[in-house]
Amino acid sequence: MNKQRLSRREAIQAGAGAVVGAAAALAGTRLYAQGGAVVPTPPPARDPRYPLPPSWNRELRRLAPNVYAYSQGGGPDMSGPGVSNAGLIVGADYALAIDALQGPIPAKAFIAASKQATGKDIGRLMITHHHGDHVNGNQFFTHAEISSHPYCREEVLKAVANTPKMWAPTPGVADAAEPRTLVPPTVTFKDDVTYYIGGTEVQFRFVGPAHTWGDVMAYLPKEKILFAGDVAFFWVAPYANNSYITK
Ligand SMILES: [Zn+2]
Repeated sequence: MNKQRLSRREAIQAGAGAVVGAAAALAGTRLYAQGGAVVPTPPPARDPRYPLPPSWNRELRRLAPNVYAYSQGGGPDMSGPGVSNAGLIVGADYALAIDALQGPIPAKAFIAASKQATGKDIGRLMITHHHGDHVNGNQFFTHAEISSHPYCREEVLKAVANTPKMWAPTPGVADAAEPRTLVPPTVTFKDDVTYYIGGTEVQFRFVGPAHTWGDVMAYLPKEKILFAGDVAFFWVAPYANNSYITK
């Protein structure tokens, strides 16, 4: 198996209206759902003519009433393996999460932070695309219905057979060995689907082929917030391993 890994650093802007890109960082077409650590690339020598972006912390950040972004730490001075971000929309009875992150550490931290901030369990999970840093945490959303574009489900199903049975301890991904299962989405849609979560309209739109052939973005028209999956990158070069690059 191709062991090459690429690093991605990705940031989100604070405040409502931010574009929340859930950046991917997997390399090699067989690694979509394999996960594991992303080896950070050392930052370049500092040059005052080209200032580096700031570093940022792993945190659940409130963007609007009942809307949160879960950003993973990164930036020039941080070597965190966290590369993708997640979203959360909170309703009266449950919360809807966007993307499951890359393994037990970030998935469990996201779920715990969500519960602490909102008091709600995550009842639905929308996956923006099939890359491992977006689907490998699916197993930890134990009571959530998982949805995606059909292409995403097909690619996850292909990866199930090659997924290890145990998580290997990996910095930032898994603290200890524990059972590992790659859980495929159980609901698919081809074009658009809109949820009304409490008072929040959440439009899921198929925008592929772009970063993959199954990209879904979430747009909240009232709040003017976009969860772009890996269709948008911020402060990193777009990852285009199996992308349709003109889109
Ligand atoms: Zn990706």
